[in-house]
Amino acid sequence: MFIDTHAHIYLKDFDDDLDLMLENSQNQGISHIFMPNIDLSTVEQMNVLQNRYPFCHSMIGLHPCHAQENTRGDIKSIEKILSDAPDLYAGIGETGIDFYWDRNFDEAQVFAFEAQIDMAIHSQKPIIIHSRDSLDTTIGIIKKHQKGNLTGIFHCFNGTLSQGNEIIDLGFYLGIGGVITYKNAGVDKVVSELPLTSMVLETDAPYLSPVPYRGKRNECSYLIHTAEKLSELKNVTLEIISLITSRNAKDIFKNSFNQ
Ligand SMILES: [Zn+2]
Repeated sequence: MFIDTHAHIYLKDFDDDLDLMLENSQNQGISHIFMPNIDLSTVEQMNVLQNRYPFCHSMIGLHPCHAQENTRGDIKSIEKILSDAPDLYAGIGETGIDFYWDRNFDEAQVFAFEAQIDMAIHSQKPIIIHSRDSLDTTIGIIKKHQKGNLTGIFHCFNGTLSQGNEIIDLGFYLGIGGVITYKNAGVDKVVSELPLTSMVLETDAPYLSPVPYRGKRNECSYLIHTAEKLSELKNVTLEIISLITSRNAKDIFKNSFNQ
């Protein structure tokens, strides 16, 4: 059994074969899928999917690449969506900081990130963090707000060993995705030196497919390739990877497993 802690399977990329894709993933032992939101336009489709497939769990938030002109208004709307139906959402996100795509909205990104940290603290839900070319800034913001009651996942972790340890010391988990299967990415070596007890698995479908599907649309069933690579890096069996990463995911998303 494996848990995919990060997949955008409500996107149009899956319109033609969602049922088959989910059936394949269940056949591969993927028992639960957690869906981080992107922006206001994706909430409805995500919730339709959660309704139809109870093993798929919605989260609510605003992606940093979509924190642009109307960020304050969008955050107000996201806050209302959460307060109207808090039980619909397993977590807050994805949020964070992205300095890779566009540097014109740095302030808006920080505003949106801090607002979502507040939402996570007040709703006692985990927060899903996206960080690209910004890991020290992102860690710094979490550090500033961590009063002991904030937890979540640094999704698609690809930092250094010391950044990994800082994240763990902050009470957060590392989201391990297809990037660990890429040659020359370097993240495999770092991951091999960090503790499995702070790791969860993710696909980030439809993006970042693991080898041998690199460059193609990612699917939840491909999680198994990342799990196999992690078992190789940590020199433990696939069963141990399944057991520990699933236990970690259940720790993070407690409320989604208590029903
Ligand atoms: Zn994502």
